[in-house]
Amino acid sequence: MPEELFTCRHCGTCCVAPDISSLNKSVGVRCPHLDDDLHCRIYGRRPAVCRGYKPDGLCRLVDAPELEQRVERYLGLFGMGSSGGE
Ligand code: SF4
Repeated sequence: MPEELFTCRHCGTCCVAPDISSLNKSVGVRCPHLDDDLHCRIYGRRPAVCRGYKPDGLCRLVDAPELEQRVERYLGLFGMGSSGGE
């Protein structure tokens, strides 16, 4: 059975929620290259980890109207949210 394909909705969550060591970015910290419209300011020279990131079922699981809500959901899925993953 083919895997379901997901389309990036440019929600910004993956530029805030996970840690990205090549950017010296900690968990839950907004990447300094993410602009107010949730576009990458350095898209053409973004690090390999960003280039390799592919949208998947996680994007649907974290879907919410606001970026802060999406980040909280993402962190909660990994037991790192302010609610301690509960
Ligand atoms: S470098 Fe660009 S793609 Fe990578 S986390 Fe920052 S804003 Fe997102």
